[in-house]
Amino acid sequence: MANATPVRVRFCPSPTGNPHVGLVRTALFNWAYARHHGGAFVFRVEDTDAARDSEESYEQLLDAMRWLGFDWDEGPAAFDSASGKGDGGPHAPYRQSQRMDIYQDVAQKLLDGGYAYHCYCTAEELDERREAARKAGKASGYDGKCRTVTPEQKAAYEAEGRTSIVRFRMPDETITFTDLVRGELTFQPENVTDYGILRANGAPLYTLVNPVDDALMEITHVLRGEDLLSSTPRQIALYKALIELGIAKQVPAFGHLPYVMGEGNKKLSKRDPQSSLNLYRERGFLPEGLLNYLSLLGWSFSEDQDLFSIDEMVAKFEIEDVNANPARFDLKKAEAINADHIRRLDVKAFTEACAPWLQAPYAPWAPEDFDRAAWEAIAPHAQTRLTVLSEITQNVDFLFLQEPVFDEASWTKAMGKGDPVALLTTARAKLETADWSSPEALKEAVLAAGEEHGLKLGKAQAPVRVAVTGRTVGLPLFESLEVLGKDRTLARIDAALKKLGA
Ligand code: GLU
Ligand code: ZN
Repeated sequence: MANATPVRVRFCPSPTGNPHVGLVRTALFNWAYARHHGGAFVFRVEDTDAARDSEESYEQLLDAMRWLGFDWDEGPAAFDSASGKGDGGPHAPYRQSQRMDIYQDVAQKLLDGGYAYHCYCTAEELDERREAARKAGKASGYDGKCRTVTPEQKAAYEAEGRTSIVRFRMPDETITFTDLVRGELTFQPENVTDYGILRANGAPLYTLVNPVDDALMEITHVLRGEDLLSSTPRQIALYKALIELGIAKQVPAFGHLPYVMGEGNKKLSKRDPQSSLNLYRERGFLPEGLLNYLSLLGWSFSEDQDLFSIDEMVAKFEIEDVNANPARFDLKKAEAINADHIRRLDVKAFTEACAPWLQAPYAPWAPEDFDRAAWEAIAPHAQTRLTVLSEITQNVDFLFLQEPVFDEASWTKAMGKGDPVALLTTARAKLETADWSSPEALKEAVLAAGEEHGLKLGKAQAPVRVAVTGRTVGLPLFESLEVLGKDRTLARIDAALKKLGA
C-alpha cells in the first residue's frame, strides 16, 4: 500500500465567552480521531474578531484543554510546561491574530487570479435587491452584480466615495461531497452565492481565514458541528481555487457532528447554564467522567456498554460511527456516569481529587480543623456515594466543624416525633460502654437502645445521626461515629439533649 497521508485534525475555537460542552465534544472527537489514527491534533485559535474575542477567554480555553487532557501536538502555547509539547509547530503562529499578513497575501492572489472581486454594493442596495428577490420568489443571497464591474465603473464608484468588500466568486456548478457522518450531500449553486472574504477595512473574515489555515496547516479531516455545514460548500470551492493557486494540496474530508439538544428539545445553547464547562468543573465532574458522557453525544461505544475509559474510547473511535441524528443532553445520565468514574478511582486518587472541596472557598471549617487522618479514614465510605466531587464537603463537614450544622428539616424529621430524649439518653449510655474499635459494636449499641424503646434500627439511628452530623442523610453512620471518635460523639449527643430541653 502507498503511504497514506497522515491524519491531521484541528480544533479551532474562537476565544469568546466561556468554554461550553458543545465545544468540548468537538475537541474530544478531533483529539480522539487524531490519537486513534496516530495523527496530529492541531490547536488553533481563531481570534480575528477583536470586538468579541478576549484574552481571558483564550486563557480559559488553554486551561480547559489542559484539564480535559487534550494534549495538542501543535498550538499557540505548551500543553504542559514540563515537556513544552504543543508550543508552536511547523505552521506557527497558531493564533490567527498573528497571521494577518498571510490572509492579505492569499486574498490578493485570489483577486489577481480572478477568483475574487471587489463588491461596491452598499448595505441598503443589498437589502433592497434581496427583498425584491424574495418577492419574486427567487433565492436570496448575493446576486453577483459586481462580478463584472469594469475599470471605468470601479473608478466611478471610488470617485463616489464607495468602499468595497472582497467577495469570493462561487463557480456556477453543483457541489457534492461525502460527509463522513452524513454521507453524500449536494448543494445547488443558487443556494451558495458569492460571499465576502475581506471587510471594507481589509479585515479578513472567518470565511477566508478558516479554510486558508486548514489548507496551510495541511488539515486532512475537518470535524466540526453541524451548525457550520452551510459554510462547507463555500470552503470546498475556495479550496479548489487555493489548489489551483498552489496554496492548498488537497480538499480535506469533512464530518459534521450532530446538534446537541437541551431542555424541551431545543438546541443546547452556549448561554445555557447547563452547557458551561466551568460549572461541571466546579461541581466536581472528573474529566474522564465528563468525557465519557460527552462522547455518547452522537457516538456509542457498544450496544451494551456506556461506561469506559478515555483510552478505551480512543481505541474504538471512528468518525464514520458518529450518528447524524441530534443527540440529547441528559444531565442525569452524565451524573450517573461520573459517579461510576468516581467509584473506579483508587482510594488515593479519590482522596486527592477531592482536595479542592476540602478547602476554602468550599469548605466551611477552619483550615486548622481539617484532620488528614480522619479524612483518609472516612474517604472510602464517601467514594461510593458521590455523584460529583463537590458533594464531599457536606458529607464530611461534621468531622471538621466544631459543631454540626443542623439542617432544620432533618431536625424536625428525627426529633419531632416519639421520645428522642429517651432514645438519645439510652443510646448515649450504651455508646459510652461500647467497644469503639469496631463500627459493628457501635451499631449493636444503637440497636440495643432502639429495642428498649420499641424502635427498629432505622428509627433509632435517625436521632443519633442528626445529633452527630446535623442531617438525616449522610455517610454510613457507624463508620462516621468511629472516625469522629467517642468523646466528640458523646459531647454532640449531650448538646442535642440540651437543645431538646433535657
Ligand atoms: N472558529 C470557528 C468556530 O468556533 C471554527 C469553525 C470550524 O471548526 O471550522 O465556530
Ligand atoms: Zn456588489
